[in-house]
Amino acid sequence: MASEDCIFCKIASGVLPARKVLETDECVAFLDVAPLSPGHCLLIPKHHFGTFDQMPADVAGAVLSRLPGLGRAVAAATGADGFNILLNNGKVAGQVVEHVHAHVIPRKEGDGLGYRWRPQTLDDTTADGLCRRIEAELGG
Ligand code: AMP
Ligand code: ZN
Repeated sequence: MASEDCIFCKIASGVLPARKVLETDECVAFLDVAPLSPGHCLLIPKHHFGTFDQMPADVAGAVLSRLPGLGRAVAAATGADGFNILLNNGKVAGQVVEHVHAHVIPRKEGDGLGYRWRPQTLDDTTADGLCRRIEAELGG
């Protein structure tokens, strides 16, 4: 189901142009218009889901199963040494376009890309409590 005024729905349906590199019944991948590095692609479901957690598991599986092949192709085509898969989920996590999308960002030695990664410590009591709460939320 397309959402009115969603640019990625319009790309999926062909109403808006994009440099598509992959299309299946479930998903489309295309070049990011403002890439972090050459070959930076976005993989989206054709149907509109605002955030990742709204996708049914079978749709998520069909879309995300394309990531290994897409990543290999992007890396081979760009001569990248590796790639980041990034999914900004929710505004607070940096999501701007409200149609779920996974970034595939080719990486090369010394490319200067990076992000803040500031590990924290976790005491045993807090860690145990978190485990229990997450398990309970999962219905375990
Ligand atoms: P995010 O911050 O995870 O929501 O990222 C949205 C991404 O969509 C950004 O990297 C944009 O450059 C990209 N983007 C926005 N509009 C278009 C478009 N019309 N075609 C291709 N990429 C787009
Ligand atoms: Zn959409």
